[in-house]
Amino acid sequence: MSNVIVVPAPPATALPHDDSGPHDSGWCVRLEWPDGSHSMAGWSRAQAKALRRAEKMGQFWAAGPTRPRRIMVVQISRHDWRLHARRDFCRAPDCPGHVG
Ligand SMILES: [Zn+2]
Repeated sequence: MSNVIVVPAPPATALPHDDSGPHDSGWCVRLEWPDGSHSMAGWSRAQAKALRRAEKMGQFWAAGPTRPRRIMVVQISRHDWRLHARRDFCRAPDCPGHVG
């Protein structure tokens, strides 16, 4: 049972094989909190891995007093994800996975 939403990659582009540069494409878990903020957790190159992580996070948070409103797997470059990690509980509307 899962309530994880996968936000598909914008245009289907192949992931580079061994490019470890800053714009490395990959996936992370986006957690949306009841107060309207969000955080991006656990970057990985493989979507399947990000999905498993999202499932685990969902199970973890389901037991807690504060639950994310929504858990999503979104495509984001490693570079952007690292930048985002510095601002936890972000409210920017232009982050990957934003829905109205
Ligand atoms: Zn953000």
